[in-house]
Amino acid sequence: EGGEDVPQGTVVAVQANFYQVRLLGGGESVLCTRRSRLKKLGQKVMVGDRVMVEEIDEVDRRGAIAEILPRQTLLERPPVANAEQILLVFSLAEPPLDPWQLSRFLIKAELTELSPCLCLNKLDLVSPSEQAAWQERLQQWGYNPLLISVEQRKGLDRVLGQLAGKITVIAGPSGVGKSSLINQLIPDATLRVGEVSGKLQRGRHTTRHVELFELPMGGLLADSPGFNKPDLDCDPTELVYAFPEAREALGQGACQFSDCLHRDEPNCQVRGDWERYDHYLKFLEEAIARQELRQQRP
Ligand code: GDP
Ligand code: ZN
Repeated sequence: EGGEDVPQGTVVAVQANFYQVRLLGGGESVLCTRRSRLKKLGQKVMVGDRVMVEEIDEVDRRGAIAEILPRQTLLERPPVANAEQILLVFSLAEPPLDPWQLSRFLIKAELTELSPCLCLNKLDLVSPSEQAAWQERLQQWGYNPLLISVEQRKGLDRVLGQLAGKITVIAGPSGVGKSSLINQLIPDATLRVGEVSGKLQRGRHTTRHVELFELPMGGLLADSPGFNKPDLDCDPTELVYAFPEAREALGQGACQFSDCLHRDEPNCQVRGDWERYDHYLKFLEEAIARQELRQQRP
């Protein structure tokens, strides 16, 4: 539908009122403004948006975004449209893998509509038995982590396979090897597309900054500081669904009370001896405290 001759593309960078759009097929990039109709409708263009481009000036490679196609997903922090998954990167050592911190990131990812993909880096620093122990432990949590070593280039093909053709947001604590991983996956610095030409820059918006990298075999990787210290600000009754191992218990049969918080309510299907039940209780407190704070505000 909608204009057979109008080229489509993906927004790969946003700066002030300019949008860099990678056209489908040809792979060319066009620097675009937004048609006034979109401005009037108050439609914001985001990184990852699939758009229709008009009035392409073949010489200057300039154009105008005429329409934003419906979004499959929408992430607010970092602001990215149409991402399919969150690549969570942690390290097995240096810094040591902290189960509480890992849990917090996993829960935050589960609370979005994107699916999490877990990567544990620096396998070169721990023994095979320790690697196996983490693998097994995380399987109990409902995950199947990819163990990798960016430094020794181990497991990177599997990461690439997971990312190919998709828009992925990368997240994780600092020092775990995210930048190293990006540099390994995208060795060609010219594929860094998160910037538009210098003369258009009007100050930097570092907090909302998203950098998008194009992968050699198709797909985009979005890196942003916005996801690096996740707060759990969900509805307390929804928190349990962020735990795959608890979702499984709920699949077997519902709790007696529909608003069960799975603490000490009678006939609860969720409470029990799963490792992260402690995490659940702690994060539940946090979610409840945040909800109370929200309700106190006028
Ligand atoms: P970021 O903060 O997550 O972006 O982490 P960096 O990419 O800056 O990496 C932090 C440190 O970990 C650097 O000194 C890297 O050289 C090191 N590093 C990255 N990957 C590996 C790995 O697979 N093994 C080991 N031993 N060190 C790694
Ligand atoms: Zn319950």
